[in-house]
Amino acid sequence: MSEINSTEPVPGSAPGQIAPCPTDRPTHPGRLGLNRDGYRGERIEARRVVQEIRSWARHHGFTEQTSVFGDHELVFLSRLGRPGPRVYLSAGIHGDEPAGLIAIRDLIRDNPWPETLNLGICPCLNPQGCDSGTRENAAGHDLNRDYRHPRSTEVRLHLEWLSSQPPWDVSLCLHEDWESHGFYLYELNPASRPSLAGPILETVGALCPIDPSSWIDGKPTNAPGLIRPEVDPRHRPDWPESFWLLQNGCPHGYTLEAPSDWPLPVRAEALRQAVQVAAHRLALGF
Ligand SMILES: [Zn+2]
Repeated sequence: MSEINSTEPVPGSAPGQIAPCPTDRPTHPGRLGLNRDGYRGERIEARRVVQEIRSWARHHGFTEQTSVFGDHELVFLSRLGRPGPRVYLSAGIHGDEPAGLIAIRDLIRDNPWPETLNLGICPCLNPQGCDSGTRENAAGHDLNRDYRHPRSTEVRLHLEWLSSQPPWDVSLCLHEDWESHGFYLYELNPASRPSLAGPILETVGALCPIDPSSWIDGKPTNAPGLIRPEVDPRHRPDWPESFWLLQNGCPHGYTLEAPSDWPLPVRAEALRQAVQVAAHRLALGF
């Protein structure tokens, strides 16, 4: 925790720059030590990044749907009609977690998807929060607690789009955690399908620390960086997106949490590679 509470960056580092590597962990860039009582790292121009995502998506043949609210809009991208699994990917539901948007931009730009994969992508679920750099939307609602009895326009519009789609096989929700000591993930897999957690953590661990804590976010870990929460959505009133998906036909989900006290390029690359290895494992049938 002492690193979290420090206001001094690692010597030689600054937001957006990768700090010198400790000699005992040469592949792990150093922690920035910027976050205190919340995310204090790099900001992005979310609207510009979303425009880049839309432009690359058009270039690579994705279908786009939009839902306008006020002077913002939600963007839904899809690439369907293929014989393989259906994968759902989202980011930007918390506006102070920019790495997910960057990861989706880089993925759509580089187009590394297996040919057989069907994709539905929501690149920025909280446009107001992403504009202002706040976790919540402009009304102060945490959208990722709004999926059981939605109050927010954003979640209602998102659910309209989700409800128009056949169920997904796997969901990947991209997040960041400003308090964590490394990358970690939540796995929802009540039917015990072949797990993607091992391949994801092994791949990410080559470029970013995996959180070694035995408790993360108030929950016990099942292995380093892995939380399999024993929560029955029916008993929780404030569903996150992942619970709605689980209760509406998607039997297998991951919430991927990049450590936002590390440089943004490292976090975005960790999320990008996590999605990429999951997509390839799914297309290959593990
Ligand atoms: Zn989040």
